[in-house]
Amino acid sequence: MTMSVVIVGHIDHGKSTLIGRLLYDSEALPEGRLAEMQRLIEEYKKRFEFAYFLDSFEEEFKEERTIDTTRILFKGKNYFTVVDVPGHQEFIKNMLTGASHAQVAILVVSCVDGIQEQTRRHAFLVNMLGIKEIIVAINKLDMVDYDEPTFDRLRDDVSGLLASLGYGDNLFVPVSAMEGDNIYLRSQNTPWYTGPTLIEALDAIVPAEIVEKPLRFVAQDVYDIGAEKITAGRVESGVLRQGDELVFQPSGIRVRVESLRSFPDEIQEANAGDSIGIVVDGEIPRGNVGGHADSPPLASHSLLGEVVLLEGKLRQHDRFEIKCGARRVPCQVETIREEINSETGEVTATNPTEIGVNQAATIIFRTEPMVVERFADIPELGRFILARDGKNVGAGIVLETTQ
Ligand code: GDP
Repeated sequence: MTMSVVIVGHIDHGKSTLIGRLLYDSEALPEGRLAEMQRLIEEYKKRFEFAYFLDSFEEEFKEERTIDTTRILFKGKNYFTVVDVPGHQEFIKNMLTGASHAQVAILVVSCVDGIQEQTRRHAFLVNMLGIKEIIVAINKLDMVDYDEPTFDRLRDDVSGLLASLGYGDNLFVPVSAMEGDNIYLRSQNTPWYTGPTLIEALDAIVPAEIVEKPLRFVAQDVYDIGAEKITAGRVESGVLRQGDELVFQPSGIRVRVESLRSFPDEIQEANAGDSIGIVVDGEIPRGNVGGHADSPPLASHSLLGEVVLLEGKLRQHDRFEIKCGARRVPCQVETIREEINSETGEVTATNPTEIGVNQAATIIFRTEPMVVERFADIPELGRFILARDGKNVGAGIVLETTQ
């Protein structure tokens, strides 16, 4: 099994050193790649900044979907890839476009400096991006003579921060990335610590995502090829097979899949991420989303989203267009529930009447019927872009939908 990990934390708290240590101790590095890895680790020092988060949306707005295939691999019982190298902007962009998804985050906190601004920001972002597992590495223990009370204090502080974001039961590992304590090797310097090493903690995580997700096929266009009508689209989640009966929303049309094409070949099944053509016994309107009758897509009229506003202001009752999957429909701000400081994750106002640029907020939107999913369930259809007058002004994820 391979899991993807993102390593976050305040600048200088030891992220790059930790990656170096993981690679070094795991001896997973292929021959001749050391120099390349060192370069990548340098790149990793670029901060995991909120600015990159914004950049990533700009890229997404241009519809540029570059996939960063550079991966660093280390291993315990399982294999781990470190996503987001080089450049953290890639990570956020890939998470939001669905190209990659980190299953676990390691939050590095220096025991010398404690919680800092980026510690908070990153924890907020990790939560917003739907990463359910966070392991906290309390680093630089060698600088405080492996002092247990220092570790305990920081564990309590960080625990409070994570609890405010809804995390509970996080593992805290006292480490020195520099010296290698409790990373792969159990340290003699921390006899007071009986928990797992960092690699043991990683190996113990069982990703929730292994469960097969329901099928969601987004119909993008219909082409007449010869005598056939072919609906081109993308399988966003689940598996689509020849012979499947599908229901499409919001139209409610039911069809049977007669054949599947991956041009020019005929195929039997298609998986998440595949762009294919299907021939069906009916006509599917563009932008409709199909699924199986036992877990069908549902058309929503309203959704609760967490939004980051990238331009202008957003006020109660404002009208926008919302873009999700292949659809763009009108929507209106019904209620702004909470204004959130996008750098700290703190709720700064309840029921404000407007929010400003670069602020985040939880908002209830009324929409024309469209298929969206909770980001936590099917992230591919759980992220959206807000547009006004043809211009993209914000982006967000779906927390809840209502039919
Ligand atoms: P990053 O900005 O989070 O990637 O931090 P770096 O990995 O670049 O580390 C910042 C500084 O802290 C460097 O000078 C490292 O050598 C030092 N450092 C990192 N981890 C440790 C550690 O466990 N112990 C000590 N003493 N220094 C460390």
